[in-house]
Amino acid sequence: MSDILKTYMNRNVPRYTSYPTAPHFSKDFDATAYASWLHDLPPKDAISLYLHVPFCRQLCWYCGCNMKLAKRDEPIAQYARTLVQEVGLVAGHLPDRMKVSHLHWGGGTPTALVPDDLERAMQAVHQHFTVTPDAELAIESDPRTLSAEMIARIGKLGFTRASFGVQEFDPKVQKAINRIQPPDMVRRSVDGLREAGVSGINFDLIYGLPHQTVGTLLETIDLCLEMEPDRIALFGYAHVPWMARKQRLIDEAALPGPAERLLQSKAAAKALTDAGYMAIGLDHFARPSDSMALAAKTGTLRRNFQGYTTDLADTMLGLGATSIGRTPSGYVQNLSETGAWARAVESAALPVGKGVAFSMDDKLRGRVIEMIMCAGHVDLDQAGANIGAAANWYHPHIPELDQMQADGLIVRDGSRISVTDKGAPVIRVIASVFDSYLTGQPQKHAIAV
Ligand code: SF4
Repeated sequence: MSDILKTYMNRNVPRYTSYPTAPHFSKDFDATAYASWLHDLPPKDAISLYLHVPFCRQLCWYCGCNMKLAKRDEPIAQYARTLVQEVGLVAGHLPDRMKVSHLHWGGGTPTALVPDDLERAMQAVHQHFTVTPDAELAIESDPRTLSAEMIARIGKLGFTRASFGVQEFDPKVQKAINRIQPPDMVRRSVDGLREAGVSGINFDLIYGLPHQTVGTLLETIDLCLEMEPDRIALFGYAHVPWMARKQRLIDEAALPGPAERLLQSKAAAKALTDAGYMAIGLDHFARPSDSMALAAKTGTLRRNFQGYTTDLADTMLGLGATSIGRTPSGYVQNLSETGAWARAVESAALPVGKGVAFSMDDKLRGRVIEMIMCAGHVDLDQAGANIGAAANWYHPHIPELDQMQADGLIVRDGSRISVTDKGAPVIRVIASVFDSYLTGQPQKHAIAV
């Protein structure tokens, strides 16, 4: 690895699942603005729903999510009742009954709900929205706690995709991250869901975990390939114990360094592409027939809080404590404390915690960053023209772009920039050139690879 690449890799930059990124959402944003954004949505547009369950039955030490450990059922059942209320509350602010083309349950662990509560929430969705016949209905799942009854209910409710945090199968690594799930446990869940009619299976893998090596990761990938997932996301472990307190339980001395992380990431990517998966964006791989591979080929891949997505809707309504939504006017994040979120919903108030209205500059930079992250290239003049910006809007960034070109990370052709193979591992750093908020905050994000 060249010293130049090392320098870029060590920069702390966001993952750009939004722009502006979540640390720049403001607490001064209030529910009145969100209500008017909802009211102004084009009623014929299809939208997406994101439903968040912030509970887990077990604690993984690498976890960076905002979640609660729940040993009892009642807090989760109470949460589910409030979530049903919130579906109706938000729908009541819309201009009409709207179509839903994508729905995603995330967490936490959505399958921590009991099956009847999942069904009641889905009934509320169908009561207030028209779910299109070809809608993607996706749910994140934990194989350690996924019951046969829940598998059958997921199938009955028409879910089309399920994802699993596989991470790594090596027993020593699983012990070091407190996530024990042997391959057979995952295989049983995958087979059960497929038999129940869930056609799309996603796996998440992580490199850079304690005690992990290229060898353990490649063995994990071999085991995964036997289960034939349709998509695999390969993330670098982001060790940010100053933000994610659970990670203080991770033995820092056992973490691989940046050079080893790069080797792991490259070896895993090669194993997946050798097996016939198409590499997509920063960290995804898909079978060539999967809708994400088709979106990447046709230039319609997008990026949102779930990472890369085939979801083309301009609006995603976030439901549940801490969930983030997007409208054409800006981002909104619900209150993250479940009690405060529930009190707001129960008093029929939109449970808004933070938000940010898009400026024209945000829209332009957000689109450019998304194009770089999704397609690996962008025409800066064209992106500016689409949004009415001055032709020279990006000229202040030219010295940095020139340096990246000299370092072999990008190729510039007039106003078009394309990320090279050398630049691909640091694509977030390249995108960050256009982040006007990213100044003087070196500890807020994980290192770039
Ligand atoms: S990694 Fe997933 S299952 Fe584990 S604690 Fe975090 S949210 Fe829960």
